[in-house]
Amino acid sequence: MIIFENVSKTYEKGTRAIKNMNLKIRPGEFVFVCGRSGSGKSTFLKLLLKEVEPTSGRILVDDQDLGKMKRRGKAVPLYRRKLGVVFQDFRLLKDRNVYENVALAQRVVAAPAKDIRKEVTSILTTVGLSSKYKSYPANLSGGEQQRVAIARALVNKPEILLADEPTGNLDPSNSQEIMNLLEKVNEMGTTVIVVTHNAELVNRMKKRVITMRRGVVAGDVQEGEYQDES
Ligand code: ADP
Ligand code: ADP
Repeated sequence: MIIFENVSKTYEKGTRAIKNMNLKIRPGEFVFVCGRSGSGKSTFLKLLLKEVEPTSGRILVDDQDLGKMKRRGKAVPLYRRKLGVVFQDFRLLKDRNVYENVALAQRVVAAPAKDIRKEVTSILTTVGLSSKYKSYPANLSGGEQQRVAIARALVNKPEILLADEPTGNLDPSNSQEIMNLLEKVNEMGTTVIVVTHNAELVNRMKKRVITMRRGVVAGDVQEGEYQDES
């Protein structure tokens, strides 16, 4: 369970990026976070990743108070293993093939070699890329690259998948396929949080939609629609 209690974030120069945010996201939910540029979506993700600290308020994830977690030591990296992250620009290693891009995420957490092989093979099958495991990113379509990034984010079995504009660089058909994959991942038990501007996809998916406007939660509806950015 993710809980934001009266969370505000003011950056050094005085920009109030998040104002008094209250939010609960239950395990297994699929949530879109929408809102125009500058409305606070990235700050929300950064707060959740503990990349930035709230100016006031409290963030709890599975009863863990992020504000009480020591910055030094193992607590933050251990906490972050709960979270898989996917970006608009994929962020794959260009000089590594598909298999290696995914396997590296497992090596980082020091998984045993035989588990790595099993888990990487299994997750590549889930994302529909088992036949391309030897390909390099440059030889994959945008949609395939994003599938690799999703596999990499999932291989360590995070509880929560955060996707920041995952379809921002994709055409409509690849975008829909990535959304279908995220829905499948959600149905397999992972909480999924997707930041997006893609109104068409949001409206088609009929999921919870949280709308940010100037740092405030301006809307939060189940089976919601993309709100006009007025
Ligand atoms: P979004 O992701 O919706 O575009 P952001 O969370 O990036 O919104 O930004 C919210 C507001 O905070 C904007 O006004 C932005 O300029 C400001 N902001 C974001 N990051 C910083 C930062 N590191 N320092 C100062 N202001 C920032
Ligand atoms: P996006 O729109 O994809 O969220 P942005 O262009 O808002 O990306 O932000 C890119 C990076 O710059 C982020 O790390 C954000 O925190 C930082 N940033 C955004 N606005 C400001 C700002 N006004 N001052 C300093 N850093 C900022």
